[in-house]
Amino acid sequence: MVKVNDLGQQTRLGQRSRSPRWAIAGKFQAQQATTIVEDIQASVGRTGALTPVAHLRPVNVGGVTVSRATLHNQDEIDRKDVRVGDTVLVQRAGEVIPEVVQVITEKRPPHAKPYHLPDTCPACGHEVYRPPDEVVARCLNLACPAQVRGRFEHFISKGAMNIDGLGEKIVERLIASGKIKTVADLYRLTFDDLATLEIERTVGRMETEAGQSKKMVALGDKVATKLLAAIDASRQTTFARFIYALGIRNVGEHLARVLERACQGDLERLLAADTEELEAIHEVGAIVAEGLVRFTGNESNRAVIRDLLALGVQLEAVEAAVGADLAGKTFVFTGNLEQMTRREARELVESRGGRAASSISSRTDYVVAGPGAGSKLAKAEELGVEVISEGEFLEMVGNTASF
Ligand SMILES: [Zn+2]
Repeated sequence: MVKVNDLGQQTRLGQRSRSPRWAIAGKFQAQQATTIVEDIQASVGRTGALTPVAHLRPVNVGGVTVSRATLHNQDEIDRKDVRVGDTVLVQRAGEVIPEVVQVITEKRPPHAKPYHLPDTCPACGHEVYRPPDEVVARCLNLACPAQVRGRFEHFISKGAMNIDGLGEKIVERLIASGKIKTVADLYRLTFDDLATLEIERTVGRMETEAGQSKKMVALGDKVATKLLAAIDASRQTTFARFIYALGIRNVGEHLARVLERACQGDLERLLAADTEELEAIHEVGAIVAEGLVRFTGNESNRAVIRDLLALGVQLEAVEAAVGADLAGKTFVFTGNLEQMTRREARELVESRGGRAASSISSRTDYVVAGPGAGSKLAKAEELGVEVISEGEFLEMVGNTASF
């Protein structure tokens, strides 16, 4: 792909009807496009953080229809001065949520007003607080329905317990009906609980607005059977996925794997660790250690963990013994992988003691490039970082069998 990187030039070159004039798709499609911000709404996550989200006129970006983009926080909105009605340049980068790169100010409609996050939570109406030294504003109500829902959604998400098919609507109804109060309750759900659960469905002809109506419909036997099987399958998990699923502040997927190795997959060791022991682990700083101890020291959190284990959740033995043969090595993946997903590739690197990073620097040891590798490949060559193929990577980790 040939692309003009200078944003000013991009703006001057402008758009053809379907794709920007500054990017000519050769083999690959542009990862950027322009569209209009139709609305800006604050969404509340599981930690109470308010994230402003731009609702966009749907646009095709690199083969995917994008209708939302994150605006990160108020500072970002102020810096980019994004307003409702603005024409904006959006981009997709890897697996990251699309973001607004910049406003095309020449196309701004008159009377467009700057956007400010609300002072109260859009989900529960509770006061929103932004500490003076932080960029994130949060709803402080732990019982906030958006936070509760967010915690469940995180728990069942792909990188966590990976319960397939348990969508937003179903989770919302399960909470509202009182069938799930803690994440452990998911493993107590019966066939009847699910089969009789009513969710709102749109029925009638899809083509016309007028022909549609909303109706409460029970999930039914087929869906219930599938969901129960998915819930059951999720019982077999790993230490790292389990720790990540708990949603401990600052413990992402990578750090969960760091903890798995450090504790050698022994949950009791993690539950018993104090801040000093935790801080001795490479990559665990004071903030993470304190957050962990606060979490594991909380009696209701421990009760949920005990419940989950009693309900049959099993943590697979850690792969620590397989080796630290990639210890200290940093990998960056770019382009399409054919034999595994990015997530699997990252897990593979980390299970061998290496690190998977998302951007290239002079400290990167290997760039694994598949078809479609773009700017990262160029950067690797510029920095003299060794570039290997997916096949060479698999040979290096000596693990072609498991994929
Ligand atoms: Zn709230």
